[in-house]
Amino acid sequence: MNISYTNIHSHFLIENDAIGIKNSSTNFSDFTTAKYCSIGIHPWYIKEKIVEQELFYIQQNSIANNVLAIGECGLDKLSEVDFQLQKNTFIAQLKISEQVKKPVIIHCVKAFDELIKIKKELNLTVPLIVHGYNNNKQIAEQLIKNGFYISFGKALLKPNSNAVKVISKIPMDKLFLETDDEDVSIKCIFEVASALLIVNKDELKEKIFSNFIKTFNINLSFRP
Ligand SMILES: [Zn+2]
Repeated sequence: MNISYTNIHSHFLIENDAIGIKNSSTNFSDFTTAKYCSIGIHPWYIKEKIVEQELFYIQQNSIANNVLAIGECGLDKLSEVDFQLQKNTFIAQLKISEQVKKPVIIHCVKAFDELIKIKKELNLTVPLIVHGYNNNKQIAEQLIKNGFYISFGKALLKPNSNAVKVISKIPMDKLFLETDDEDVSIKCIFEVASALLIVNKDELKEKIFSNFIKTFNINLSFRP
């Protein structure tokens, strides 16, 4: 069987040779046309005036079959949005994800302690995926210890990045790959990852695909 590349987070339409999740966090209206998508409010774009309305929209639509995950959403200490507002908005989305039992694609910048604390306090059971990982080994270890999944993307293309140094330390069943908002093919990300992991590319495709099916609860009969 020819296994597809799996791209769990892209801001663009998923390529033909891949299966994956189109992110609809800044413009929800496109979610209905995507085969699989995630819906959520990105911490850069929270607007206090409309946030309640947007959360209601997410809640209403999160049950749709093609919505595989909530997100990307999260915490970003470099964002100009008030951190307490970020936290409240993130927590509201985590609660929706628990209600509908769908994973969360997380954007986290310089707020990993808070992220881990929130997971514990809310007693979350849904899979939580930290996307675009490019932090050090210690943080990665903390995340893995606390049950998070980790997704790597464009940072793998930069020699000597944290992502390059850390990817081989991640258990294979906690690993995902993505293109995010970068104009790069998922095939290219897989090629770099397979070299760094010293794993044959087909084996890697199979493994990540199997992680995807399990984590996102994919019904194969619904597969495109
Ligand atoms: Zn993104």
